[in-house]
Amino acid sequence: KTVLGIETTCDETAAAIVSVDSDGLPSIRANEVLSQIAEHAVYGGVVPEIAARAHVEVLDRLIARALERAGTRLADLDGIAVAAGPGLIGGVLVGLVTAKTLALVAQKPLLAVNHLEAHALTARLTDGLDFPYLLLLASGGHTQLVAVRGVGDYVRLGGTIDDAIGEAFDKAAKLLGLGYPGGPEVERMAEGGDPERFALPRPMLGRRQPDFSLSGLKTALRIEAERIAPLAERDVADLCAGFQAAVVDVVIDRARIALRGFADTAGRPTALVAAGGVAANGAIRRALAALAGEAGLAFVAPPLNLCGDNGAMIAWAGLERLRLGLVDDITAPARPRWPLAVESAPVTAA
Ligand code: ATP
Ligand code: MG
Ligand code: FE
Repeated sequence: KTVLGIETTCDETAAAIVSVDSDGLPSIRANEVLSQIAEHAVYGGVVPEIAARAHVEVLDRLIARALERAGTRLADLDGIAVAAGPGLIGGVLVGLVTAKTLALVAQKPLLAVNHLEAHALTARLTDGLDFPYLLLLASGGHTQLVAVRGVGDYVRLGGTIDDAIGEAFDKAAKLLGLGYPGGPEVERMAEGGDPERFALPRPMLGRRQPDFSLSGLKTALRIEAERIAPLAERDVADLCAGFQAAVVDVVIDRARIALRGFADTAGRPTALVAAGGVAANGAIRRALAALAGEAGLAFVAPPLNLCGDNGAMIAWAGLERLRLGLVDDITAPARPRWPLAVESAPVTAA
């Protein structure tokens, strides 16, 4: 089975072709991504109208290129998958209308995928993971700890009550005068920095509910930066190192609590999984791997090109849904908001 995946929910335009052979083994046959970062960088964040227009400009060509790279044609596909949300409505509509048109013209099933579900299922594409697993989904717009029990079956154990982790990295970068997106910049600067020079808070540490709160950390960072301004390169490096170390401590503490609560909702996990753009962060990956090791679990994080938004994860989520007969109608709506998971009962583990 072969599916085309289309992604336009934020600032990446992406189209990919993923196949599954008769043994169920997947292969990514094409994975085209065009980032709009340069177009948004001057504004320090994604501008919705610019994003939507940029998707319109490149999506057709990107799909044609993906088909060509994969050596396949529209007529040979078994389905058209598209991220129908959550995300910026203008961009989502560009992808969804394109996918519907292709599905109608080529008479193929439409698979309207939740973008967050696609992030959540990527570990099954890359590592053939079995359910259930604990997922830290962390990107620019989302941060949650989720028990992934099956396709379409997610329980939210905790999440952020203010900023997403990627958003916190982006804001930290902005206030330190670094580029956008901030995550990679902060990580790069942190490498040469002293994480202990500045005493930054670890919000929510020890709380019984595995939630996150990151806006206080960002404020503390700003206060320190203003206190010692003007900043030399050394100062920026130390602030980045301190900020990243604080985030790592929080992530590990929250994930540890979620692991304890996991059994009540889903039994024993097969692995600890990280997904979303923040999963590209080396310090977070190493710390999560160590935590998983402590718990006797495998740690799985997608390769860097599958951490951020991409079409392969959409195609894969489409294949998972197709296999279960979860095909969508041509009236499938664009959903700017689309929660992945149901809320769990409060975690009571000590
Ligand atoms: P959504 O939240 O809807 O998935 P998004 O575009 O924010 O949308 P991604 O493209 O998955 O999602 O992630 C981008 C985010 O990941 C940005 O906030 C970026 O700063 C962050 N990020 C990327 N690389 C790193 C890194 N090395 N360290 C920390 N954060 C990173
Ligand atoms: Mg993005
Ligand atoms: Fe994403």
